[in-house]
Amino acid sequence: FLKNKYLKSKDSKIHILCHSLHFSSSVFEGIRVYNRKPFFLEDHIERLFRSCKIMGLKLDLKKNQVTDICNEIVKKNKLTNGYIRPIVFRGAQSMGPDTKDCEILLSVAAWKWDVFYKNSSLKLTLAKWKKPGPDVSPVAAKSSGSYQISTLAKNDAIKNGFDDVVMLDHKDYVAESSSCNIFWIKDNKVYTPTTRCSLAGITREIVLNILKNEKIKLKVGNFRINELTDSDEVFLTGTASEIINVCQIDKKKFKEKKMTNFLKKKFYLIKK
Ligand code: PMP
Repeated sequence: FLKNKYLKSKDSKIHILCHSLHFSSSVFEGIRVYNRKPFFLEDHIERLFRSCKIMGLKLDLKKNQVTDICNEIVKKNKLTNGYIRPIVFRGAQSMGPDTKDCEILLSVAAWKWDVFYKNSSLKLTLAKWKKPGPDVSPVAAKSSGSYQISTLAKNDAIKNGFDDVVMLDHKDYVAESSSCNIFWIKDNKVYTPTTRCSLAGITREIVLNILKNEKIKLKVGNFRINELTDSDEVFLTGTASEIINVCQIDKKKFKEKKMTNFLKKKFYLIKK
């Protein structure tokens, strides 16, 4: 979907001088489709509009219209299981960082997508890049600019034989991975960082609800890297990767998968 038309992705054309390409002024979402239904679509559309607001992107469509487009794109692609990617971006009317005359465009793409990680348990390494604080960058928005350091960090990790990274924030507290939130377990208590410097993940929220319903002990806070590496079990959460176990962070290995497997079972029941 682009400029009010549904078209083949090979026919979708945008101007090479789009402001968002040059100045990272876009926001986007990633939504899983299970059994022909977009999963937690309303929450994703809410976050998309929140990101738009933070980045000053005034879309001339309402939330329910974007929801309808996402549902329609699933039908048009005859998707049973897959992924939807709405992105709101600025057109080519400004050659500088200011955006006064830029049109605001929405594109929605969808494709069949099975697993995000080939491995069922991940090896992470500590990234050299730090997540900025909310006074440095609009961290609450799922904006393309936030992914510059994710890309650099993840590429470095892969080059060194790891699957992904643990990123600290600018105050050296554990933040998240390149595209997932992080949880760990120590003595049957679950820990996860606040979202001060990381994305408020929708899968994170689903897991927090499961933990609450199951009356599992939880602490959300600011944690140092040694608290994470001293734990018994680690897992990541994200729309694309769902809930995925971590078996290693640099030299430290984790054998435990009990909580990950329990949460995966609960998650499976929700997505059914
Ligand atoms: N953090 C980052 C940086 C991400 O890109 C994502 C994926 N959207 C997440 C966390 C997890 O968020 P969600 O569960 O909403 O996909």
